Amino acid sequence: MVSRSELFRECQAALENAGIPDARFDTLCIFQDCLGDRNPLFSPLEAVPADAEAMINAMTERRISGEPLQYILGQWEFYGYPFRVGAGVLIPRPDTETLVDNVIRLCRANGITSPKIADLCAGSGCIAVTLKKELPLAEVSAVELSQEALPYLRQNAALNEAAVDIIEGDVLAETTAARLCGLDIVVSNPPYLTAEEMKELQTEVGREPSMALAGGDDGLDFYRALTPLWKGSLKSGGYICFEFGMGQHDEVGKILAENGFENIQFTRDLGGIVRTVTAVKR
Ligand code: GLN
Repeated sequence: MVSRSELFRECQAALENAGIPDARFDTLCIFQDCLGDRNPLFSPLEAVPADAEAMINAMTERRISGEPLQYILGQWEFYGYPFRVGAGVLIPRPDTETLVDNVIRLCRANGITSPKIADLCAGSGCIAVTLKKELPLAEVSAVELSQEALPYLRQNAALNEAAVDIIEGDVLAETTAARLCGLDIVVSNPPYLTAEEMKELQTEVGREPSMALAGGDDGLDFYRALTPLWKGSLKSGGYICFEFGMGQHDEVGKILAENGFENIQFTRDLGGIVRTVTAVKR
């Protein structure tokens, strides 16, 4: 039988040799998951049961093959809530917590206690579910087209006991926008990577669905299409809130202004990158 610390060293070294960044962190997450222990190294000499050892080795191999850690664990945290993830759905990013913060702040600042919110390109549901948890009186709809992502979205709403209205549909279709009206908030983290960026994806991001990443040649296709289309679903005084990629703020701001949105305000993410925008429909 191998001890926890021995096996830990072996796995970390295997990940390091494979060039995986954050090898120690990834090893720790795998150990926590397989041993059901938040502090697996507090008892370093404890023997690892054979079935747990097999699981740890299998997960380490998957990680070496370039699979994202989050897919291997099958669950990831966003805004303190658990979300199931796996192949076919975008992994929730901490950057997107800034987008959620914006929506909560707007609702509180404007005294909107029971906002009607639509999350477009909802994916795992991290935005929609978190908003429903943080603003329990909100009426939250989550629109998603991908047949691979929808089961995760449903599962995550159930897992978090969040009553989110899940709409299977294309956010670019007028028929979808026509299903929702009188909205206080339209929020979206649409695909925004440029064609150039799509060619040079980090190995792990390359395992995520391109449908959730590719925003056309300049990455701005969704902002150009969603802004005029969903403006009609917003009530006057309602807000549109977008996440976008590094360096896209000028262009996204221009699209909002061209479509008559006002009070266009940007926020930086935790890494200091201008990452989100809010704007009001008058
Ligand atoms: N933030 C993601 C990335 O950098 C992109 C997500 C998106 O296109 N909405 O990989």
